Amino acid sequence: MTYPEEPPSSDFIRTIVEEDLRTNKNEGRVATRFPPEPNGYLHIGHAKSVCLNFGIAAQYGGTCNLRLDDTDPSGEGAEFVESIIKDVRWLGFDWGNRLFYASDYFDQLYQYAVQLIKDGKAYVCSLSADEIRKFRGTFTEPGKESPYRTRPVEESLELFERIRAGEFADGAHVLRAKIDMASPNVVMRDPVLYRIKKAAHYRTGDKWCIYPMYDFAHCLSDSIEGITHSLCTLEFENNRALYDWILDELKVDRHPQQIEFARLNLSYTLLSKRKLVELVGRGLVSGWDDPRMPTLAGMRRRGFPPGAIRNFCERIGMAKRDNVVDVALLEHCVREELNQQAPRVMGVLRPLRVVIDNYPEGQVEELEGPYHPQDPGMGSRRIPFSGVLYIEQEDFREDPPQKFFRLAPGREVRLRYAYYIKGGRVVKDPQTGETVEIHCIYDPESRGGLPPDGRKVQGTIHWVSAAHALPAEVRLYDRLFRSANPSGEKGDSDFTKYLNPGSLTTLPSSRVEPSLAGAPPGSRYQFERLGYFCVDSVNSSAGALVFNRTVTLRDSWAKIAAKEKK
Ligand code: ATP
Ligand code: MG
Repeated sequence: MTYPEEPPSSDFIRTIVEEDLRTNKNEGRVATRFPPEPNGYLHIGHAKSVCLNFGIAAQYGGTCNLRLDDTDPSGEGAEFVESIIKDVRWLGFDWGNRLFYASDYFDQLYQYAVQLIKDGKAYVCSLSADEIRKFRGTFTEPGKESPYRTRPVEESLELFERIRAGEFADGAHVLRAKIDMASPNVVMRDPVLYRIKKAAHYRTGDKWCIYPMYDFAHCLSDSIEGITHSLCTLEFENNRALYDWILDELKVDRHPQQIEFARLNLSYTLLSKRKLVELVGRGLVSGWDDPRMPTLAGMRRRGFPPGAIRNFCERIGMAKRDNVVDVALLEHCVREELNQQAPRVMGVLRPLRVVIDNYPEGQVEELEGPYHPQDPGMGSRRIPFSGVLYIEQEDFREDPPQKFFRLAPGREVRLRYAYYIKGGRVVKDPQTGETVEIHCIYDPESRGGLPPDGRKVQGTIHWVSAAHALPAEVRLYDRLFRSANPSGEKGDSDFTKYLNPGSLTTLPSSRVEPSLAGAPPGSRYQFERLGYFCVDSVNSSAGALVFNRTVTLRDSWAKIAAKEKK
């Protein structure tokens, strides 16, 4: 695929904001908000919304609130609030002192509901949920009015108060807006504003047994906070009429404008919170921060730099139509940033012992390797070299094909930053027949990479000194799903069948160069020739290093996809 190199300079939302500024629509104010519900961790789709809302506020000298949209007690909790705060901050955004909770507005929202009843614009309906659904009609048929629609205002007011006091069980009554059961927009057919839910809320405890619906709480929260542009995803397009109706009927001072944009869909990735909850709940991943998860916590642990995610969100731009973005673009952004930032080091994932027969017994040399080939400012480190090394198992073949430019009996390769070595005798495990050790001869004249006779070799391989290398566990991560569309087709809800069985490979006996001693959790490196790796922030410790592979150096999926097309 081709990647857009430059972010789009503007988009339809910024065009609206600029027009509003030009006409002084909100006295020149721009106020946005990011309103996650704390019932899960943030994922890369949320990042698009975070970057949009905070980005617009920053660009036009406005403000962006972080609002926890916590109006439904089921599934919400403080763990999620904490994770959201941490993740938005990690992405690089700041809300100053504008952290809000929709649950702080419960009293106000209740008063607004009472006002609607008094104005004859809302009524307590005692139909069951099933009946309400049946009465609603379809896209082609108008709905039927509830027999409770004509309930006198006084009766609704009194009932609503008793409902709030806890006199009725879940489902006994709801509060509905009185709009139009024949509206072509199904959302406007007397939508439910409040329902009974006898559940404790993680912040308000047992104070409430009724909770406002999203459509009622959201527009009013926006208005209370003085939001000017309320940006949401396309599935709320039909709800905009209700958003406006509620604010108009209540004659609030501040009426924000709802604008919809396309939600992010990513190939090979699930972004439905419900399904992510299921992955975690069923133990199909190790948790919300499993490095294979599309959550920001997972991506951070995997080693994605926040700048790469911001860059990705800019490059995909803002569409008005739903589409699917290739996950390869995200990986491309990660590689691009890590290529610039990550120090180069050597690590051997699957070690094979190499003994250099002509290397002076007991000698150790210190070689110098720059941390970055293009950025001398990053400095360099010393790499110990000795007569016993480890190389990658796949860099040796006893019986190599013609074009195998690595080590083999009688074939010479360059050891990165060190010497030429030539393959010799192979030692095998007598039981398994497995190659366990290679004997080699080195050319002492070739130190630093080139012998005086100018003799060339085709391959350069990485290595570590056996006596000096640090043991490490390396976790190779790959895409969690092997299907480009793990949500499946409509009606096919079992996404677990698309899980990639090879999404995690654990290598318990890798070796890394000694400069990595004390590498702090979360620090990122390029292991030469292998990919980008990050010190695991949960399981790694000074004595037992654990590295996560963030991404390979090249996109190996592109090749697989091309093959499958043939
Ligand atoms: P669910 O998956 O349960 O519907 P949600 O993903 O919409 O929930 P919220 O916490 O309500 O979760 O989302 C907070 C904000 O992030 C909303 O404004 C929402 O529109 C936006 N958002 C969520 N998913 C995406 C996505 N895939 N792309 C862009 N924005 C998103
Ligand atoms: Mg939502």
